[in-house]
Amino acid sequence: MTRRTAVTLVLCLVGVATVAGGEDARPDLLASGARPRVLLTAARLAELRTFRETSHRDVFDVAKVETDAYLTLPLPVDRSRAVNAYRAHGKMLPALALMYRLTDDHAYLEAARRWLRCLVRFDTWDGSQNLGRSSFATGVSLAYDWLHDALPAEERAEARARLVREGRILAPVVTAQHRLLSNHLHNEICGLAMIGYALWGEAEEAKQFVAVAEEKARLTLEHAPTDGAWPEGVSYWGYGLSYFLRMLEAKRVLGRGDDFASNGWLRATGDYFVHLSLPEAHWTRGTVVANIADAPLDGGPHSGVVLRRLASAYGNGVYQHMADALMPLERPRVDPAGRHDGAHGAWMHLLWYDPAVGPTPLDGLPTMRHFADMDLVSMRSGWGKDAAMLVFHAGPGPGHRNMADPQRGAMRGFGPGHAHPDINSFSIFARGEWLVVDPGYSRVKDTRDHSTVIVNGQGQAGEGGPWLDYWAFQQRPAVPAIRLAKSAPSYDTVLGDAGGVYVDEARLQHFRRQVLFLKPDVFVIADDIEAHGPSQFEWLLHAPEGSLSLEGDGAFEIVRPGVRLHGVFLRPPSARARVLSRVTGSSGFDPTSCLVHEMRGETVNPLAVLSVLREGEAAPSVRLVEGRLRIRKGKAEWTVKIVDRPAAPADPLLVVETPTLRLR
Ligand SMILES: [Zn+2]
Repeated sequence: MTRRTAVTLVLCLVGVATVAGGEDARPDLLASGARPRVLLTAARLAELRTFRETSHRDVFDVAKVETDAYLTLPLPVDRSRAVNAYRAHGKMLPALALMYRLTDDHAYLEAARRWLRCLVRFDTWDGSQNLGRSSFATGVSLAYDWLHDALPAEERAEARARLVREGRILAPVVTAQHRLLSNHLHNEICGLAMIGYALWGEAEEAKQFVAVAEEKARLTLEHAPTDGAWPEGVSYWGYGLSYFLRMLEAKRVLGRGDDFASNGWLRATGDYFVHLSLPEAHWTRGTVVANIADAPLDGGPHSGVVLRRLASAYGNGVYQHMADALMPLERPRVDPAGRHDGAHGAWMHLLWYDPAVGPTPLDGLPTMRHFADMDLVSMRSGWGKDAAMLVFHAGPGPGHRNMADPQRGAMRGFGPGHAHPDINSFSIFARGEWLVVDPGYSRVKDTRDHSTVIVNGQGQAGEGGPWLDYWAFQQRPAVPAIRLAKSAPSYDTVLGDAGGVYVDEARLQHFRRQVLFLKPDVFVIADDIEAHGPSQFEWLLHAPEGSLSLEGDGAFEIVRPGVRLHGVFLRPPSARARVLSRVTGSSGFDPTSCLVHEMRGETVNPLAVLSVLREGEAAPSVRLVEGRLRIRKGKAEWTVKIVDRPAAPADPLLVVETPTLRLR
């Protein structure tokens, strides 16, 4: 090895260690005046020009297909506001700019300049509060930096003036923003930071923009749920993070601190997607993730790039595998009017792909995950195509740590948007179909749209509006919580306690619900409910429209293509069952087939057994004898002891006594 080769090798290794380990020894690029510098450096650009033919060929090809679609896309006719339909234009500009830098093809430069002038001249950048503004600010800032020497001076000056103007709007908004748990703030922080990073040294206010954005990013990371989860659901997680990670990555590349190395939420957050994801075999049908909060089932067109960056940051092959699988599903959709939706920014896959992180299959992952700060649980029989999966929620909106934060009042609850009044509700997906459903993005947030319990006609605090009143939801002691979560080889179980989340008019004393998953396909739901005085209770189960029917003797069935969910409602015997069509006004399941078991008394202990059945499979034998539940399904037999009066709130309602597997 020559001396020069050795030096080069050492430098390469230092470079790799810097990226992987987060040791931040990067020069201050902002002070140096070097360009490009925002997310991309000259050195990285040179690397990518080589890699596009080798290790990065696949991601390059996808990015190029997406970028090429923009070459012919007509400019929007209405340039009054940066409305939702135009939000993706902010992601198009960097795609064109990067492709020009990688190929030297002037068609990309011309298109980038055409779009840059167009966006810069929009009347306003308003659109869905600041989402449009943040998108345009991010895209224009990146194009400004990446094409700096290729843009005529007057185009640069025009873009610069517009960015300063928008930065002046965003800076006070970001300063005052208390909604630390909202995708909106992720976007706003990114837009403002990108303006500051792009204009540093050229506009007086750039340093202030950066200071405001970086301080709010620090606060956001400090208050993100410790378990890696996100209260707005998976799709808003992906959407917000696709911006926030761009800001954090730009900050890292600029040598201003590596949050990937230091922050626990970032380290854990990829698992939020993984454990709420549905079996990959069904992704092409648009069923990618569980519906929690307002998250659409397709997981949104942004989660892939987020997982791509997290895969590189943490050397995580599972995230890499999922990013690979999501990438082809994220094609932009363009309509004839030139509006396009869902452009995911494949250029981020290209920028952030680390070929050293090989994709790892999911098979070996644990099948149950308890996100203990948000108190959200997912349990599944496996990671294969036919797996059964249940998702259960019984936690406070901003997570337990934030609930105990003395600043919560001043920060007005940290503002998790898109949440639902869904405590002690669950959903079930099995053999490729949704069986028990959360409505999805609903017009009005309503407890009744969830598979939980209504007490004296009343639901959980904060419901009834287009947004959950998260402050009302948070203000009810005691805080809802998961009291028990356990995974054993043959079963998983979780016990949720609704605490004081039901409104006063419900006159509820307590509502505890245990879900027991007898693997691989039987679920037992046991409730311990007590109210002040004689009361009426409604036990709800939501299924896809038209799929649910009553069978007599407390039995019911949800029938979907190739799979059924057979249910037995065992007690109280006086419960009256009916099935109704429930209008949810949701973009997901609307209406639902809703099973209502109506019960009366002061105390009720409903008990139900739900079994997933293959095509043609007989219903299991389910008997309740002297406080013991005996279930026989195929070769498996179970005995579960029922505890009606647990001594303490964390004591189980269901105790598995004998799981046995009858061998042939
Ligand atoms: Zn919901």
